[in-house]
Amino acid sequence: MRKFLQSLNQELQGGFAPQQPGGGGGFGGFGGSGGSGIGGLINSFIQQPQHSNVPCPRKVPHPGFPDWFGLTDPRFQYFNVCPTCYHSQIRPTPYAGAFAQKPPAPPHLALRCDMSRFWVRMAGLVLMTMNQDRRHDVTLLPRVSGVTVQEGMCPNTHLDNENVPPPSVSRVWYTIRDPNTGVIPLPGWTVCSHCVVNMQTLCPTISNAWVPISQTPGEGSCAFVPSDHFDDQYTSQQLQYAATCVVASAQAGRTDMSALVNWLRDNTPPARGSSSGRPWQAPSGPCPQNYPSSTLRCYVMRDVFDFMVCEKCFAEVIKPDLDRGLELARRFNTAPSTMPSGFTCQLYSARMRQVWAHAASTGDIAFLGQKVRMCEDWSYHRT
Ligand SMILES: [Zn+2]
Ligand SMILES: [Zn+2]
Ligand SMILES: [Zn+2]
Repeated sequence: MRKFLQSLNQELQGGFAPQQPGGGGGFGGFGGSGGSGIGGLINSFIQQPQHSNVPCPRKVPHPGFPDWFGLTDPRFQYFNVCPTCYHSQIRPTPYAGAFAQKPPAPPHLALRCDMSRFWVRMAGLVLMTMNQDRRHDVTLLPRVSGVTVQEGMCPNTHLDNENVPPPSVSRVWYTIRDPNTGVIPLPGWTVCSHCVVNMQTLCPTISNAWVPISQTPGEGSCAFVPSDHFDDQYTSQQLQYAATCVVASAQAGRTDMSALVNWLRDNTPPARGSSSGRPWQAPSGPCPQNYPSSTLRCYVMRDVFDFMVCEKCFAEVIKPDLDRGLELARRFNTAPSTMPSGFTCQLYSARMRQVWAHAASTGDIAFLGQKVRMCEDWSYHRT
């Protein structure tokens, strides 16, 4: 994988005319320093979390500051940048000319700095490192800042460190679908509508890769942690591979999400503390075995997105391990849900139950992931 990235990187460095605006500084919220082509983006993600920039002192809405900067374009009056972020992130860039000091805001109005928002920082990175085709202009910053979705902000926006497990909430969840084949490679990997709209705004070339897993809300959590308070490494890595997909798609002339999908298969999310007090539900249906079911419910492992277990097998195999306190058994989604794209149960065979027993007793999640993948290779309904 690393080799692939390196060669992709080299190819890109050669392939993309690096009309790099402004050189070093600016928009480096993730510790990167510009750089050229997607390689620059990848490097800036890899290098994080070194903070090369002064942290924003106005992340929380507060009234009374008279000295905001904003865009001269009157359509984006709602966009506010604190002097610290203006001087460290905007002024060194070619986009500085679009900004000016704003007239003082009414003193009672509580404002926060929009440059401290996660997705706005990502928009800054896109402008500085992924905009060789001039697809985006500076309005990307306020447009991303103004993204609202009916279901509200990402539930992970306010997490304040990487040991807090993402909350499980009821929303419509989205996953990756290959628009060319219709295949949904990782049905258990889900992101929220807020993150999807931001991704679509930042990366329009892969905007058709996101589909809802169901039209009605269900229990789940977002795989991205777009926190305004800390830089989550796993999220940066996922976005780095999404950026790789943008480039691969541009080169292939069609959406190609394989870089991110393959990386997600090989890299499990970090353990972020375990949720306790899980409500237990008795199984409500039979095991679908190897026949894809879209009506039965399954549990999905948070670390091995394609390891799905029906309610019956969960009760027989996982629940006892859960009661014994085995760590791997605690890593399933809190509540079972249906998979509109269908799921087959990966614990119906004696062989896979042995694999599970070995993985659970040794805590060897890589072993489990490997066996699940081998199992999928014979399966007819997925690639
Ligand atoms: Zn700021
Ligand atoms: Zn989200
Ligand atoms: Zn089963």
